[in-house]
Amino acid sequence: MNLILLGAPGAGKGTQAEIISEKLNIPQISTGNILRAAVKNGTECGLKAKSYMDAGALVPDEVVIGILKDRIAEADCANGYILDGFPRTVPQAEALEAMGVNIDKVIEISVDDEVIKSRLGGRRVCEACGASYHIEFNPPKTDGKCDKCGGNVVLRKDDAPETVIDRLRTYHEATAPLIDFYKGRGKLSTVVGQEEVADTSKLVLEAVNS
Ligand code: ADP
Ligand code: ZN
Repeated sequence: MNLILLGAPGAGKGTQAEIISEKLNIPQISTGNILRAAVKNGTECGLKAKSYMDAGALVPDEVVIGILKDRIAEADCANGYILDGFPRTVPQAEALEAMGVNIDKVIEISVDDEVIKSRLGGRRVCEACGASYHIEFNPPKTDGKCDKCGGNVVLRKDDAPETVIDRLRTYHEATAPLIDFYKGRGKLSTVVGQEEVADTSKLVLEAVNS
């Protein structure tokens, strides 16, 4: 099964993608995590991406499309995958179709901007494996350490309040048009993001199985 999780930054796509990935035993593909790893490792692609990411802007389509294409060609994607943070523009969605990828379902997690602004300040991410946490709603078992790999759990630079406003604007301008794009293809389910991670997961799994 090939799934797309769509939603504003901080709507909880990453957390939900991790959960469904474990349930369905198919990989979560987060372009944000891949890009952050590239930045950390100082690769050519990371060097190109860094300034956009720090500013809360989108990395150019050709860069992320290349990354995604390589990733879904890997062996662990043979039985399907969950795209988390891709596509983020209509040209990216069109590129996916041009690659011949068949998407089974697109699940939009809908959360109000005001809720997002208050959530992102508490968000933390594992430097090593990219797992996401929230200091209040979903803290790691040991303070500052990742449950999955023991890596350091840190605040993302682009979760600073000024950058969050830019990321939300980018979402509404560039990514939200994908809601109609996939509605038009009969693939869209919308789930309203709940306060508790587990409550949202229930709704997401219902949408996946519907
Ligand atoms: P969030 O969904 O919380 O904004 P991500 O980890 O998905 O965070 O992405 C972080 C940043 O990485 C984005 O703000 C953007 O700069 C870049 N990025 C990730 N995925 C894409 C994509 N598909 N297209 C363009 N830029 C991307
Ligand atoms: Zn980790």
